[in-house]
Amino acid sequence: MNIGVDIDNVISNFNEVLLKEFIAHDKELRNSGIVNKNAYITRGMFDWTKEEFDDFYYKNIERIAKSLNIIEGADFYIKKLRQDGHKIYIITGRDNGEYSNPYEMTLNWLKKYNIEYDEIFFTNNFSDDEKANVCLENNVKIMIDDSKKNSYAVAKAGITSLLMDTEFNRDAKDLIRVHNWQEIYEYISNYKEEK
Ligand SMILES: [Mg+2]
Repeated sequence: MNIGVDIDNVISNFNEVLLKEFIAHDKELRNSGIVNKNAYITRGMFDWTKEEFDDFYYKNIERIAKSLNIIEGADFYIKKLRQDGHKIYIITGRDNGEYSNPYEMTLNWLKKYNIEYDEIFFTNNFSDDEKANVCLENNVKIMIDDSKKNSYAVAKAGITSLLMDTEFNRDAKDLIRVHNWQEIYEYISNYKEEK
């Protein structure tokens, strides 16, 4: 079975590192702290002006992305899924203009952490159904993502969508929610048995 896997917040600990970086930079600015804990890190969690945000984010996002670690178990369970005969199709929205060379940067990072995969696809995430279209074109049966909009589009396209839990997507109560790679592995293994 072909399985689609997002990178940031599914394989990488993107939000965790980004939040640490924002808290550290916020201290250098006005030390206002988190002003809206319900807002996403880049969308109103801090009281930064657009200029302050742009100045920090675009100068640092590439360094931050290169510094990410993997989410526990991602390497182990992806390898296990491939050993079970599944194909791993990494589908990432990193071709979004924020990185000078998203392809090289991402391939190097995956190699560094021994993340195995069969194919990799880059989308720009500018429209909600880009990842869903990649899934349809490549016969992906299950897609794992932390983005609500991507997950809803994938589910709407008739593909089984697993939403990786983050503190920013908990209002999406009607999607299948997973919390870690062991749970993802078990879901996929049981799914296979039902077929
Ligand atoms: Mg993601």
